[in-house]
Amino acid sequence: MKTPRVGLVLGIVALSSTSLLRAWDSHGHQVVTLEAVELLAGELPEFLQEDRNQLAWDSIEPDLMRNDALPHLRDREAPDHYLNVELLPGGEFPETRAELLRSIDRSGPDKGVEQVGALPFAVVEATQRLTLAFALYRQQPSSRHLQAKAIIYAAHLAHYAEDLCQPLHTTIHYDGRAIEGRSSPHSGIHQQVDRLIGRLEPQEEVSFEGLEPRELEPLFAAVIEELERSHSQVERLYGLEEDLVALEAGGEPSSELRSFTRERFRAAVLFSASLILTAWQDSEALHLPDWGLPDPAPGLHPR
Ligand SMILES: [Zn+2]
Repeated sequence: MKTPRVGLVLGIVALSSTSLLRAWDSHGHQVVTLEAVELLAGELPEFLQEDRNQLAWDSIEPDLMRNDALPHLRDREAPDHYLNVELLPGGEFPETRAELLRSIDRSGPDKGVEQVGALPFAVVEATQRLTLAFALYRQQPSSRHLQAKAIIYAAHLAHYAEDLCQPLHTTIHYDGRAIEGRSSPHSGIHQQVDRLIGRLEPQEEVSFEGLEPRELEPLFAAVIEELERSHSQVERLYGLEEDLVALEAGGEPSSELRSFTRERFRAAVLFSASLILTAWQDSEALHLPDWGLPDPAPGLHPR
């Protein structure tokens, strides 16, 4: 099944990737992740609450992997942080990463995954990694090692989920409006948006009363829906360019900018929390092979 995409296909052939840009800055990622984990209190095992500060800090790790001095890792990792909807071959979301790579290949020699991005697949794959980590934890809940593994995987999942809720991670106009045939103008808007959570502190204003994380089924379709909601905010965001510049210059934030930041913050928190909850619920029924069950006394034992 193919999911129709939003937006128009543009004939842009030479875009540079967003590899130097982060969605939300490291502070923003930590604030959103912490809020998401706190929202899940009572739904998930207690160790996630106890280690929530560590989990929040670990949520910046995927950005650390985009390090110029680690070029192979950066090359593999960077496309997982964005999806330029306008460049999707055929204008459709394929269901798997392999299908995406095949469709990009078929669309011609000028485009690679580094131009298109692979963010929704990073989200779904991270959710399933966490499902596996939770299933292992359920076998031996007292294991600090298995708890730590779940913390890392939950943190990575939160990172990709939060990137997806930053609208500039879903578009060729990721740092200023792209001009046909040209790379991004790098206007600086991306960084200005990244800093909004740290500057406006929406966590002080947003209430989650009546809003609960929910299990996302079917998972892939729910991820694409969230990405489309985020992408639908790109034009609104460009309408706030002057407000962003004024804020950078030391001015007061406009009420529209505040409300945009609150809405995106709320979406990122709920989406991250819902994905972690989905992994926890799915992990209950996940079958593990005998050879993969955690060993209470790990080590190689004679057969
Ligand atoms: Zn990122």
